[in-house]
Amino acid sequence: MSYELTDALNEVDPEIFERLKKEITPESLYQYLKPIADTHAPSQSTAWTRAKVIEGLLGSEFLSRQNVTFIRNFENTGNTVLMLGNDQRKKKVWLLAHLDMITYLIEPEENGAFPLTPICYHLMEPGEREAVALGFNISNSSYEIVTHGVIRVEDREMKPSFIPNDAVPLHPGMRVCFHSELSWDRDTGVVRGSLDDAGGVAALIRAAVFLADYDIELLLGLTDEEEGKAGLGSQTICRGGARLPRYFDQPELVIASDIHEAAEMYGGKGPDNFGLGDGASFAEKSAHGVGEITPPHLYELKRKLAEELDMVGIRLRENLGGYLSRTEGINAMYRTPNISLMGFLGENRHFQRDVESANISDLVDLSKAIVCFAFLTTTQLWHDFWKLQ
Ligand SMILES: [Zn+2]
Repeated sequence: MSYELTDALNEVDPEIFERLKKEITPESLYQYLKPIADTHAPSQSTAWTRAKVIEGLLGSEFLSRQNVTFIRNFENTGNTVLMLGNDQRKKKVWLLAHLDMITYLIEPEENGAFPLTPICYHLMEPGEREAVALGFNISNSSYEIVTHGVIRVEDREMKPSFIPNDAVPLHPGMRVCFHSELSWDRDTGVVRGSLDDAGGVAALIRAAVFLADYDIELLLGLTDEEEGKAGLGSQTICRGGARLPRYFDQPELVIASDIHEAAEMYGGKGPDNFGLGDGASFAEKSAHGVGEITPPHLYELKRKLAEELDMVGIRLRENLGGYLSRTEGINAMYRTPNISLMGFLGENRHFQRDVESANISDLVDLSKAIVCFAFLTTTQLWHDFWKLQ
């Protein structure tokens, strides 16, 4: 086989694969993943919650670089952006992932329990999971935990409810979300915690920090309100992200990242050809074709990229037969067909049977593969690719 794509990357920087190997490691990924995953970020709160944590993780030295812009609440859209380059509108590459976690609204108390209205695909099976109620403290402008407790599901047909540990008054305007603390088994690579979509977010941030050393116009959009009340229309999901594209000119490539099903669950199953820990995942379509679809020419390029990356130790697997839910590309597809779905396999999305789990090595591969794909847009090869002969 030929090595056109990796050669093109090497032409821009002969050290790129060495640098990737040295700098994007499980340890360096974990430094972003753990604090983001452990921060409760119910829908509509992200600019005050996880975005603040990310700002601290990036640090003032990085954020003061001339080619770096970070805005927690971009144009009051509720979305957080990290931009590389010097043109504020024209970004060649968009990297997108949702920053919030699935969320429940609180209804009036009934016998010590608070019925919950999911503003998400509620997938949890009968049982109990740890959860918190969060509220906004208007006197110091911050989201705070009001109480810990559990989300209880007695019957799939009934509303889930929140049982607080303390008898505190809860009211509408407070939000309930799952509580977990990320764990990492260094022998197996297995991470357990709130990974949808802290996993994608951490991989994209790590990639963007790496790419900040190069001359690239890039938007990293970390969106709010990943989902609304479950329904068939595409506006039931990726609601916050819909407010973002109007501020930017046409991109050449959009990479939308999220958790991909590792096993049988709501919507579909895991891939037929690989499993957890075998590498990052990419697929042609989401939600059986309801959502994003990658055009054939871009898909072929990605298949070739995956094949070549394998030779340099970066594992990007073509997901055959597995299910991907819709993600942030569904808004970008109204601007460009060039959407690439890249993510990582995970189990128990939305805490279906247990806490979410994935393998950190897949996140490392995802982050590296995203760097390579984004970086490819700076090469002559990419430029020539779009000369439609
Ligand atoms: Zn997600």
